[in-house]
Amino acid sequence: MIELRTPAEIDEMRAAGTFVAGVLTELAAASAVGVNLLKLDAIAADLIRTAGAVSCYVDYHPSFGAMPFGKVLCTSVNDAALHGLPHDYRLRDGDVISLDFAASVGGWVADSAVTVIVGTPRDEDLRMIEVTERALAAGIAASRVGGRMGDVSAAIGAVCHEAGFSVNTDFGGHGVGHTMHGDPHVPNDGRPGRGFPLRAGLVFAIEPWLMQTTDRIFTDPDGWTLRSLDGSRAAHSEHTIAITDDGPVVLTAR
Ligand code: MG
Repeated sequence: MIELRTPAEIDEMRAAGTFVAGVLTELAAASAVGVNLLKLDAIAADLIRTAGAVSCYVDYHPSFGAMPFGKVLCTSVNDAALHGLPHDYRLRDGDVISLDFAASVGGWVADSAVTVIVGTPRDEDLRMIEVTERALAAGIAASRVGGRMGDVSAAIGAVCHEAGFSVNTDFGGHGVGHTMHGDPHVPNDGRPGRGFPLRAGLVFAIEPWLMQTTDRIFTDPDGWTLRSLDGSRAAHSEHTIAITDDGPVVLTAR
């Protein structure tokens, strides 16, 4: 079911957005050579506790997950594209890490992700991250009253295709409200003029993700982490946005 939020409710959701954005800023700064993924998860857990927020991940157990997630943060390193389960691994120079974080504040959820490079960057990694960020910006710009969800999907897909990437549409954006994953689905590719009509009060996450040389994934033996089939690196950018009569509002802006 797709629910529309009033302007007052969207104002209430800003607290969650600001919190999630702040946590990602801290985690991005903490992602340095030698830092353990479990340390990043612990930092996020501390920030949740201090803020009186609620993790959306720790008890998360959807049909595609082998067991409850058990951590509060997704850390997807190098060939890990999405849903990276934090484990005992110390970041190395040149690693690409996607930090995906969702939490509930005052009963409202926000969900956002950022990909950063640890230490010395490779040109192809910088470019891949930049393309996901540009695809996210294009999706946000297309999130306007009177449009359709296909406009958002097509805008995301066009940026990716023009940059030479193929797009996996198995996982994409989603409605955000009192829970993390609701309707509508926000595919990362599609046709303009199709799909759900965009209205003021729609709140959803847009999350383009790409892999360097494949669009195929497999699930790691940990039951959660999705990795590129060919071992190539991945990047992921996500914001929670609200459609208003004045245009899209990025609730998780950093
Ligand atoms: Mg997310």
